[in-house]
Amino acid sequence: MVKDPGQPLDAYHAKRDFAKTPEPAGRPGISPADEGGLRFVVQRHRARRLHYDLRLEMAGVLASWAVPKGPTLDPTVKRLAVHVEDHPIEYLDFEGVIPSGEYGGGDVIVWDIGTWEPRHGEDPVDSVAAGQLHAELAGSKLRGTFVLVRSKGRTAHGEQEQWLLLKKDDESAVRGWDTEAHPRSALSGRTSEEVRADPDRLWRSDLPADRALVVLRPQPVQVSEEELAALADLGSIGRWEVFGQQLRLTNLDKELCPGLDGEPPVTKRELISYAAQIAPTVLPYLRGRPLNMHRFPGGVTEPGFWNKQLPDYVPDWLPRWHNPAAKRDKSTTYLVVDEPAALVWAANYGALEWHAWTAPAADPDHPSYALIDIDPGQATSWEDVLTLARLHRTALEHVSVRGQPKVTGRRGIQIWIPVTAGLSYDDTRTWVEQLSKAIGAVVPELVSWKWDVRAREGRARLDYTQNVSNKTLVAPYSPRPARGAPVSAPIAWDELDDPGLRPDGFTIRSVLDRIAERGDLFRPVLGPPQDLPPLR
Ligand code: MN
Repeated sequence: MVKDPGQPLDAYHAKRDFAKTPEPAGRPGISPADEGGLRFVVQRHRARRLHYDLRLEMAGVLASWAVPKGPTLDPTVKRLAVHVEDHPIEYLDFEGVIPSGEYGGGDVIVWDIGTWEPRHGEDPVDSVAAGQLHAELAGSKLRGTFVLVRSKGRTAHGEQEQWLLLKKDDESAVRGWDTEAHPRSALSGRTSEEVRADPDRLWRSDLPADRALVVLRPQPVQVSEEELAALADLGSIGRWEVFGQQLRLTNLDKELCPGLDGEPPVTKRELISYAAQIAPTVLPYLRGRPLNMHRFPGGVTEPGFWNKQLPDYVPDWLPRWHNPAAKRDKSTTYLVVDEPAALVWAANYGALEWHAWTAPAADPDHPSYALIDIDPGQATSWEDVLTLARLHRTALEHVSVRGQPKVTGRRGIQIWIPVTAGLSYDDTRTWVEQLSKAIGAVVPELVSWKWDVRAREGRARLDYTQNVSNKTLVAPYSPRPARGAPVSAPIAWDELDDPGLRPDGFTIRSVLDRIAERGDLFRPVLGPPQDLPPLR
């Protein structure tokens, strides 16, 4: 883009309170687009009124339209789009809270984000000036060609132009597509409510763009390309420095899991690499919790075993917890993955499967989650599991309780529900039992309440008894001991309706790309805890 856009941020600046900020602000072009092309974002913004801000990168700024009802894939619908002031590039992936009283005060989620292209040969700045712009969007929700057309010039108030936003009737068009039925962030998987309750970031719209972002929760450290390359270069034994710790790694070429068809087997080196790469994402679910390790040092073709007791010879830096209530002969000292290197250590120790306690070490009798475990029997088909999961989705919506589903990486689905601190395991177990029994009554042919496997006649069990001290479910993103190293991957609720969904369809080779694309879909379980409402 060579065109000088003039002073495209003037209107934005004029709306900010410069009494607090004497410096001039905004440097167009500060952050040029990647090779992928121009970027776009749609932010769901609950300010005085709910609206969606469509922002298209051009000439170093974000040209912006406020769309009260939001963009839709429905080609039969025209949406009002008010052309508002350009925003600084720094705002592109902002998700969080704008303090009340400041311009745009409210909460913002990145409802969709991706790249866009103007129609071939057109300069988008010229197109906007001329009042008609064709934009081909490649986002996670919005795809295909959208058209913005100026319908009315400046209103009588002399303020803002009214445009219309339309979806071209191309192959990505979907009749009846409902914007508000897709409420989650494309970055974090969270809803506007969840971000408002627990924001990661503030945007100080009273400050210059290069200082407006306030990080409330630092992003976790990621393993670097150089560190991963050093791991790849080690022989079968070696020292690896990662996350500031020196680890002695062994047996790196040991084949742990057979490969999927046409793929090489999964080695211990690959498990360790995965542990390092997934650690920043999985740490919030492990931190502060004793970890039960399911170890397969000989690979998954041999039986694994549970390891709770941390041996004496482990490195001093490993975080651990001494269980004051442990009976004699029981495990007394547990690994606690409070830092990412501890998960790498566990992987090297042969812990292929990670089960963190449902309650924190600091308060082991009070669970953080109520757990729903849809445990298929021999006669339960995947379609049956989906039916049961959808019934739980409906039931949770009905009682306004927020839960998050994940596939187990084997055949089932679990749903985790964050609960108010102080509930007992009796409380969560009783609540899940009532919910599951109500659901089981709808589809008695699918569900058995018999504890003896043979008496279940192959039917599924809705296993509320998992809600008890010292029982654990597999952690999100944990690998499972099976061909291809599938993982227990969080899913969005609407993926239950995706015919391509499989319970073991995500592996340690594919789930990192999925997180890069979709964000951490399990994040809502870290959101505000909930009371469990009476069910009868
Ligand atoms: Mn807005």
